[in-house]
Amino acid sequence: MRQFRTSLRNAVAVSVLLALIAMPSLVLSADLTGAEQKYLADNAPFTVCVDPDWAPYEIINSEGAHVGIGADLLRLAASRAGVALKLVVTKTWEESVAASKEGRCQILNFLNQSPTRDAWLIFTDPLFLDRNVIVTREEHPYIENLSDVSNEVLVLPAGTSTEERVRRDFTNLKVVTASSEAEAFGMVSQKKAAMTMRSMLVAVYTIKEDGWFNLKISGQVPGYENKLRIGVAKDHVMLRDILNKGVRDITAAERDEIANRHVSIRVQSGVDYDLIFKIVALLGAVILTSGFWLIKLRALNKRLLALSQTDALTGLANRASLNERLQAEAERFRRYARPFSIVLLDIDFFKQVNDDFGHLIGDKVLIAFANIARKTARTQDVVGRWGGEEFLILCPETDLEQARVLAERIGQEAREHGFDTGRCHTVSAGVAALMAGESPDGLLNRADEALYQAKHEGRDRVVVSKYLF
Ligand code: GH3
Ligand code: MG
Ligand code: MG
Repeated sequence: MRQFRTSLRNAVAVSVLLALIAMPSLVLSADLTGAEQKYLADNAPFTVCVDPDWAPYEIINSEGAHVGIGADLLRLAASRAGVALKLVVTKTWEESVAASKEGRCQILNFLNQSPTRDAWLIFTDPLFLDRNVIVTREEHPYIENLSDVSNEVLVLPAGTSTEERVRRDFTNLKVVTASSEAEAFGMVSQKKAAMTMRSMLVAVYTIKEDGWFNLKISGQVPGYENKLRIGVAKDHVMLRDILNKGVRDITAAERDEIANRHVSIRVQSGVDYDLIFKIVALLGAVILTSGFWLIKLRALNKRLLALSQTDALTGLANRASLNERLQAEAERFRRYARPFSIVLLDIDFFKQVNDDFGHLIGDKVLIAFANIARKTARTQDVVGRWGGEEFLILCPETDLEQARVLAERIGQEAREHGFDTGRCHTVSAGVAALMAGESPDGLLNRADEALYQAKHEGRDRVVVSKYLF
């Protein structure tokens, strides 16, 4: 007994759960009047005829079930409106149309409204909108506007309302007909026609399912939308109105979800993103390459300039660069009367180093001297190799005394430095400050004279060139 009660409880729980799961589609969300509810109760179920062979819109499958986008949408609208349906199985669309005309089905699902059909049907709002698209072979360019295409052959199944409209709207095209939609596709595929026109979903589905691998969707035809509605026998206005409440209750998201469930679409749009991507990629490559070379060229130029201004052995400014800076500083002095001094240094008895240790060691001593001068000078000073074992330091914003102190410090550093030769090497210096009206050469000459005097007086010393008044 207890066991029976438990299983009963479980069964109830399961059915409640199932009911809850099924709820969303079964919920009667459309607002029905009392009369409408009574009408439904009195007349249900309502007979439905469909196209048994119109994938992916609707088919009657091998189990006799109505499936597809149109089937799902009809069921959703009907369930929202509380309309119970009964499928009338047919073999062809023509049979369904005939059955509808004869009153054997009250509902004819998923069709465009047309003047002919208005004769015996009334329609709900569109259940589904599907654009008509142009199908071409892969190599055909995108068709922005069908009116701009001249003299190409468009094939359409014969006798459709679309054929009549196309012949009227696009006199620029040569319209030929095929006996079926499959034949129209085949003619495009085999180059017997340039293009055909079809509902987008059907085109996508057919291309995929039937393997028309050399075909693609190349454009849309504005104004040629399929507005697929539920047709209802003319004398069943209340049924149409009730179904319409269900149709209006379907959201765009629900429509998309249902369409995607049956067909996933990737259509070439007016914007040819593939082409744009290729162009952007190419441009990007060109920009990157030229950018790369530009950067490389700039770096090379910079390096070349640096090399042209640098002494290869010591890495200091070379004579040309020193001359350039000297001229610039002399000009600054003339304009702004700022103090400017130079220090000319010459390594003492350097020839002896070469003689005793060879040129390589001589070079090392030169480099060591260069480093001493560079480290001792201030950042605004320009330290350069004037030639051989002579160095020149340009000292902007520096008076004679400050320059002398700098020269003395370099002499001191050199004296204390441990050279590779194991010997002590000294340096003599001539210091001079630029005077008003003096040329750079004049300044250099005075520094040279002071240096000569330092050598003459016994080397390892600094001699300052006095101002000449
Ligand atoms: P002083 O004290 O009078 O200046 O004597 P010094 O021997 O230093 O002067 P001198 O002008 O007689 O000799 C300079 C030497 O510097 C001669 C030259 O071979 C050497 N020299 C010049 N440039 C370089 C170089 O780049 N590398 C090496 N190793 N030696 C150099
Ligand atoms: Mg010398
Ligand atoms: Mg020397």
